[in-house]
Amino acid sequence: MNIQDKSQIESFTTNINNSQKVIIVPHNNPDGDALGSSLGLCNTLKNMGKDVTVISPNEFPDFLNWMHGVEDVLIYDKNIKKAKQLINDSELVVFVDFNALSRIKLMGQVFENDTTPRIMIDHHPYPEENTAPIQISVPEASSTCELLFHVLSEAGLKPYITKEAAECIYAGIMTDTGSLNYNSSRPETYLIVAELLRMGIDKEHIHHMIFHNNSFDRMRLLGHALGEKMERIPDQNAAFIALSQEELKRFNFKPGDTEGFVNQALWIEGVNLSAMFTEKKDIVKISFRSRGGFPANKFSETYFNGGGHFNAAGGESKLKLDETVKRFKEVLIEFCDANGFE
Ligand code: 5GP
Ligand code: MN
Repeated sequence: MNIQDKSQIESFTTNINNSQKVIIVPHNNPDGDALGSSLGLCNTLKNMGKDVTVISPNEFPDFLNWMHGVEDVLIYDKNIKKAKQLINDSELVVFVDFNALSRIKLMGQVFENDTTPRIMIDHHPYPEENTAPIQISVPEASSTCELLFHVLSEAGLKPYITKEAAECIYAGIMTDTGSLNYNSSRPETYLIVAELLRMGIDKEHIHHMIFHNNSFDRMRLLGHALGEKMERIPDQNAAFIALSQEELKRFNFKPGDTEGFVNQALWIEGVNLSAMFTEKKDIVKISFRSRGGFPANKFSETYFNGGGHFNAAGGESKLKLDETVKRFKEVLIEFCDANGFE
């Protein structure tokens, strides 16, 4: 993996060596890569004898609750006072899997004028400067977990990566690469996976815990989404699913239940863009996945206050669900016409 500037790794190593109390923060609605890199790093640093806390902006999905150390993750929006105190007392803050303060929602305000040394480790393009003074930003990395493993190796900390930490790191690589199927996984990714396997991880078990451990309600919600709610937009080679609060409630929605639905609409022949709209209390959360040349991140940034990777991005809308879908259809025509897509 190409990290042009070795001095960032040196800053990382120096900061880790100089800090006893460390806080690690993933993005809002943490996914496998965000929580995997948080706990992969947390478990490694704890093994070095450090005092480490992962603070997640909000709740994480149940399919990640097997990770080692997950029971000690502090949920910011439920423990604001305690979280602020811990951040205040810390000597180092590490941000993983995001590159803009807006990605940690309300928690971002805590860091606007915070002087605690802060490091960002991330693989999304276009990092914002005020996210952290030290930025280890490698968009070529398949996942933050892959990048984290590389950074820990370069920093000489590999001996502290326990099997439990390795499991968390593998989970992030697996989820962000579509089980190593996307072209974001490169030869380096496989070399790292080989090392993780040598550390004793059980990849079949990890795959089972993440993908084959669904609640009955979640499987029924998937059936409803695919059978009743999926729509095609043939002229723009797109498909989408929109789910209302009422529908989510009907299937006893829990965080993470709609994870991966957006991929499934992309499995339709001829579909190059898939969108998933999920109605939340105040906003509509949107996920985009694309195939080939459609820049999902640019589309999301232009119209839905979002961003992400070229083929996997997200955003949000303050309009009502049906108005959001209507606007999506309109701006998709505009975007395709302007950029020569069909
Ligand atoms: P997902 O659709 O799984 O929520 O997110 C796909 C990708 O887009 C992830 O890399 C995620 O970090 C990014 N992403 C999701 N939502 C947002 C958003 O609201 N803003 C930005 N900038 N990126 C997002
Ligand atoms: Mn990621």
